[in-house]
Amino acid sequence: MSNPPCSKCGSQFTYEDGAQYVCPECAHEWPQATAAEHTEPVRVVRDSKGTELRDGDTVSVIKDLKVKGSSLVVKVGTKVKNIRLAEGDHDIDCRIDGIGAMGLKSEFVKKV
Ligand SMILES: [Zn+2]
Repeated sequence: MSNPPCSKCGSQFTYEDGAQYVCPECAHEWPQATAAEHTEPVRVVRDSKGTELRDGDTVSVIKDLKVKGSSLVVKVGTKVKNIRLAEGDHDIDCRIDGIGAMGLKSEFVKKV
């Protein structure tokens, strides 16, 4: 991890001191909060039609999906209630009647 350069003189040799950054060259001190205010971009998950999905939405499956590690198939048109958005390749966590908890890809569902 590297500290930000001094905001006064541009020195690279700044160091952390408690909740502050300190510049040894010009003695400038400033709070770290300005660096920590960086916020994560809000991730948007969209269905096959580009509609934004949210936790708790109900979606319907738009193609037959094989359930990994089993012979079960989630049939096209299956309604999935109360989805949860997740990180990763399968960006929807859900529970499907008769199958259980599984992950879906947002590109294979549409919001209903
Ligand atoms: Zn400085």
